Amino acid sequence: MSDDVPPRRAAPDCPFAKLHPSQLVKDDAHFMALAFNQAVEAWRRDEVPIGAVIVRDGAVIAAAHNAVETLKDPTAHAEILAITQAAKAVGDWRLNACTLYVTKEPCPMCAGATIMSRLGRVVYAWGDPKMGCLGGATATHDLPRLNHRVAVVHGVLEDECRAILQAYFRMKRAAAHADDDTPAD
Ligand code: ZN
Repeated sequence: MSDDVPPRRAAPDCPFAKLHPSQLVKDDAHFMALAFNQAVEAWRRDEVPIGAVIVRDGAVIAAAHNAVETLKDPTAHAEILAITQAAKAVGDWRLNACTLYVTKEPCPMCAGATIMSRLGRVVYAWGDPKMGCLGGATATHDLPRLNHRVAVVHGVLEDECRAILQAYFRMKRAAAHADDDTPAD
């Protein structure tokens, strides 16, 4: 899985520890904690900390984090990488029986991929009013003529998943500011 991706360069220490969700209660919070742990892995590789897992029949069949910098691939978002893994695991491009857990609301590309892969359910932690396309900025899954309806849930582990992303961008802005005297934004 994504642990195979080699570190691109020495990344700043991640101040967020991985979560250890209960093994007894495998609910949405349990699987979102695993997605959060993927986000921690992303930070450790100096990638924007967004993580995703895909679950089928209570088992994790895919886990990935954002790897745009490492792979030099603008499509290497956590959701896309996880969907590709899940399709391989299932042996079918149709993922109707699967749930995607992702730490941030999917962007236009990834929201489109959730529909094209016919995911049964998407659970995201926090909504993105700028780029989120499952209810934040727009609602791709509600296009009136879609044949496939993906069920969408949000707000699971919202504070933790927002905090790691905001802290990463704060750290990057501070580093950019330290590198030169021009304002970071
Ligand atoms: Zn995306």
